[in-house]
Amino acid sequence: MSDRVSDHVVVALDVGGTGMKCALVRPDGVVVRTERHPTDAARGPAAVVGTILDVAGGLADKARADGLTPIAVGIAVPGVVDEARGVAVWSANVGFRDVPLRDLTVARLGLPTALGHDVRVGGLAEARLGAGRGTGHVLFVAIGTGIASAHVVAGTAAVGAHGAAGEIGHILVRPDGPRCGCGRPGCLEAVASAAAIGRRYAELAGGTADAPVTAAEVAERAAAGEPLASQVWQEAIEALADGLASGQALFDVATIVLGGGLAQAGDRLLAPLRAALHERMTFHREPQLVAAALGDEAGCLGAALLALDAMGVRDHQEKR
Ligand SMILES: [Zn+2]
Repeated sequence: MSDRVSDHVVVALDVGGTGMKCALVRPDGVVVRTERHPTDAARGPAAVVGTILDVAGGLADKARADGLTPIAVGIAVPGVVDEARGVAVWSANVGFRDVPLRDLTVARLGLPTALGHDVRVGGLAEARLGAGRGTGHVLFVAIGTGIASAHVVAGTAAVGAHGAAGEIGHILVRPDGPRCGCGRPGCLEAVASAAAIGRRYAELAGGTADAPVTAAEVAERAAAGEPLASQVWQEAIEALADGLASGQALFDVATIVLGGGLAQAGDRLLAPLRAALHERMTFHREPQLVAAALGDEAGCLGAALLALDAMGVRDHQEKR
């Protein structure tokens, strides 16, 4: 084993409902190897855990074969995550129920391991290495099938007392709106997630839509001037602006970073959302509203940062 710090890498995994993004990440945030593996959640949580341990072990072996020294493991998972205990408490799409993933990984790989929440570590990476870099107070909002956020202050994401901080998707924005997956009507996520935008368009189009329309297509059709798409898109923008205004009232951040699939709409999302957010600011300071910069590597990078933080290695990235 080498003692040269420049040889050090973190084994990082971002476990999603369909796929795992995996990487070897240097302490300065540079990715030296990436891999993707299917999660295949239908096999059940035990099989998924087996794959996570196999993939992590394989990456550590590949690092050593390349003359690198794996020093830690960082794993990001969706759902409710108890970071302090290293337990994947609950996940709808992967099926985790109280899985002690950190201890299982330590037992298998013999490396210090940190377990984090996918959106929180994504926010950590965007705040420290990506679009929020250098701004100190960041709210990262991931808009995809659902909507979730991470509030990052001075490079640390708030976890909450029960591992469930950041559920901005379940802020009430439309009391008479569609029912959310959580059971309550009118949550932000039920109105303005990518999935909700597609559903709303299909609903208003009635039988005239021949195939399901994605949120990206709604954005495109709205930009092309289609009235129905414009209405649906604008409804989503207004709801998002309400949600972000609540976020800003609570957190007073310098920068709101939008990630997730919907953020790929770029200025079709950002320009009208900036205007709608501006209208809602009274005495609040208006945050910068920017698109995420790290793409789908954010989760892996954030998992690596979390592992390094847990070891007390923290300082290299910001100086890069
Ligand atoms: Zn909800």
